[in-house]
Amino acid sequence: MNVKRVYTFGNKLAEGKAEMKNLLGGKGANLAEMNLIDVPVPPGFTITTDTCTEYNTLGREKVIELIKSEVEAAVANIENIMGARFGSNENPCLVSVRSGARVSMPGMMDTVLNLGMNDNAVEGLIAKTGNARFAWDSYRRFVQMYGGVVLGVEAQHKEDHDPFEEIISKAKQAKGVENDTELSVDDLKQMVLDFKAACKAQTGKDFPNDPWEQLWGSICAVFDSWNTSRAIYYRTMHQIPGEWGTAVNVQAMVYGNMGDNSGTGVAFTRDAATGENIFNGEYLINAQGEDVVAGVRTPQQITLEGSKRWAVLAGVSEEDRAAKFPSLEELMPAVYAELNTTQNNLEKHYKDMQDLEFTIQDGKLWMLQTRNGKRTAAAMVRIAVEFVKEGMVDEKKAILMQEPAKLDELLHPVFDKEAIKSAKVLAKGLPASPGAATGQICFFADEATEMASEGKDVILVRIETSPEDLAGMDAAKGILTARGGMTSHAAVVARGMGKCCVSGAGSIQINYKTRIMSIDGVQYNEGDFISLNGTTGEVYEGKTATIDPELSGYFGDIMKLADKYRTLNVRTNAETGRDCKVARDFGAEGIGLCRTEHMFFEGERLIAMREMILADDEIGRRKALDKLLPIQRNDFKSVFSAMADLPVTVRLLDPPLHEFIPHEDANQKEMADEMGVSIDVIKQKVNDLHEFNPMLGHRGCRLGNTYPEITEMQARAIIEAALELKSEGITAIPEIMIPLIGTVKEFEMQEKIVRTTIEKVFEEKADKIDYLVGTMIEIPRAALTSDEIAKLAEFFSFGTNDLTQMAFGYSRDDAGKFLPIYIEKGILKNDPFQVLDQEGVGQLVEMSVEKGRSTRAKLKIGICGEHGGEPSSVEFCHRVGMDYVSCSPFRVPIARLAAAQAALRD
Ligand code: PEP
Ligand code: MG
Repeated sequence: MNVKRVYTFGNKLAEGKAEMKNLLGGKGANLAEMNLIDVPVPPGFTITTDTCTEYNTLGREKVIELIKSEVEAAVANIENIMGARFGSNENPCLVSVRSGARVSMPGMMDTVLNLGMNDNAVEGLIAKTGNARFAWDSYRRFVQMYGGVVLGVEAQHKEDHDPFEEIISKAKQAKGVENDTELSVDDLKQMVLDFKAACKAQTGKDFPNDPWEQLWGSICAVFDSWNTSRAIYYRTMHQIPGEWGTAVNVQAMVYGNMGDNSGTGVAFTRDAATGENIFNGEYLINAQGEDVVAGVRTPQQITLEGSKRWAVLAGVSEEDRAAKFPSLEELMPAVYAELNTTQNNLEKHYKDMQDLEFTIQDGKLWMLQTRNGKRTAAAMVRIAVEFVKEGMVDEKKAILMQEPAKLDELLHPVFDKEAIKSAKVLAKGLPASPGAATGQICFFADEATEMASEGKDVILVRIETSPEDLAGMDAAKGILTARGGMTSHAAVVARGMGKCCVSGAGSIQINYKTRIMSIDGVQYNEGDFISLNGTTGEVYEGKTATIDPELSGYFGDIMKLADKYRTLNVRTNAETGRDCKVARDFGAEGIGLCRTEHMFFEGERLIAMREMILADDEIGRRKALDKLLPIQRNDFKSVFSAMADLPVTVRLLDPPLHEFIPHEDANQKEMADEMGVSIDVIKQKVNDLHEFNPMLGHRGCRLGNTYPEITEMQARAIIEAALELKSEGITAIPEIMIPLIGTVKEFEMQEKIVRTTIEKVFEEKADKIDYLVGTMIEIPRAALTSDEIAKLAEFFSFGTNDLTQMAFGYSRDDAGKFLPIYIEKGILKNDPFQVLDQEGVGQLVEMSVEKGRSTRAKLKIGICGEHGGEPSSVEFCHRVGMDYVSCSPFRVPIARLAAAQAALRD
């Protein structure tokens, strides 16, 4: 069968349409569609994205052979519609060549304009238009763009200027003028010669005069641009598969540089920053597309309203504005009216905010591009809510239009966009917890707390954090670590706190002794200001201004809609009353994971905990646990009351005990003094607790099964807290969760201790409450034997952090070293600790759900690993029939939205 590789459009006819984005790329599909809906578009054709893939496997010559006749026929079609000929010296047909993938990719080739220009065609253009200046200006633009984009002519050293810009500057200097519009025809002629000479100097070849050679050169350059390192980088960043390829769009030129009745511009049907329903954009008279972007001349506003707003911001008086920077609405009312109608029609047709490019040639409007406009989270939410009100889309479409992960932008302080432009990037790490933070470098958690209490803003900078640093992390504005991945301690804890964190910034060297951080040989001292962008992973020098997020009414509206359609419940991972409050405000419907160990990490609790660890026997341990009991009870009371009437899953102690013991000499000494023992005792204990693989060692239910008294104390604290609240009229709904079981027997033993203890408490207090005992599924063996486990366990919660670690065999604390390389090399598509690996780990989850419900039909099932707040993973959880997802407080809105989308996509 003959494969069709070229799709033509023009004169209100098109072989493609909007739905063919995968094959024609976004730009190509929309150019076709605009023809079909009567929008004026210069004729042209699109070479398919599949051809790009063929190009990458078969090579240049073979692909040219494959598409030659189709391309020639398509060029003839343009020539016929335009009544012009390629390379003609009477009426030349010039074209533009642009790349266009399925999704817009700034990493790829831009545009070559005025292709087909040569010494013949320039004469033809003069003959046709009688405008020599315009013709020569178009010629020099072509040589410049083709030279830069296709021939790769560029500055040879990073200190040098672009060779073409250098020639232009010299020409302007020689004439003593400021704008290139002031250069004469002769100047432009000379410039063409100089540009060509610059190309020859770098490439060693003559500049191609044959339009066909130019066209094939450009088409192949677009295909080549798919695999440039910046395009690959962009694809990796946005998880765009390499197989997609780019389309090539070739289109008849229309000229915005034909004189004062011509121009070019870009526009948005709504405000992309705020979402306000206001048509806006910029244009330039007597210019081609690149002039608007290049910033050489000041672009003018399209609407009068926009122009007035701009003048206020730019400090331009109304007289000056009207005289020097009039809006298109004022300057060309008829063209403006047509543009305004067109933008309205396009938005209605696509049912989304559009980003448009247009050119006015001698008073006639041409549309060159339309696409769904990129927008901020605030705009995304507002536009969808207003679309529903306007009847443009229904509620379901409004929800599906959202990008859930983007909501994050709305929930944390953010950098002022202007401030960020001038900030110096020092290093880049993982965007572990979004937000913005500015403060003074501090290397030690205790000092961070001190500094914060003095009213200073602190950035805690650590090689990596440990539970000992919790209070300091809490006191800091942001956390920066040199090591660790997205599920490292710093990352998880920071996200939980909603605190900005950049982790694993490998280029940073930290010397705790000298209290110096060095990056590429430059030293930063304690007390120096730095700023962290937790959304991008960037670290900036000095202070950078931040602004508070605005949780506008639109945010609430979209959340209400999401709640109407989702079936999955959304809980949160939290262990302090304050976090619970934040999560509840964000709409959490319970707690899916309360990590009790987080309650032991500071002050008197830590001392009692250490006493328990140091004890030589059960009696000693019980003595210390007696001290912990009232503290735990109080903690639970605060969590339960913040979450009154909602279920709270409390997980029993999980981490290896050595995490509670200090490892540095000074801290060990301090601990010895506190305990009234010698430092050697502490050192010996630390030694005893040392494990080669602590994550696979003495942790989870293995602690409770070896030291049952810990489980007893925790079960007692939970139930006593709930009963005390009951007497105060507050309903607590505890769900007690056993961590890290691999065999049903492990669960059975723990369950027995829990239930026996609780029965005792009921008896003592002569009162009762409802509670559940369930387990985490985070060891593959537990997933495989879920039918047996569910006979006893009343609920399952998937601990996908550990489950991923154990299914892949990747240590979650060490994977940061190789995962980025694995992703870059395409071995993995995503970091499996962030995006649930549905193919592998997902099978374990699915099987466990099925097996669990085979022995307990109504088994309550949720997820509490980091994946519980990641949209594609939430969709998976919905699909396999979980009851809820649980995630950090700041991810709750994201999960709510993702859950609604999952339900709508069912
Ligand atoms: C998990 O393993 O997914 C989990 C939630 O537990 P933790 O991260 O505390 O090990
Ligand atoms: Mg776990």
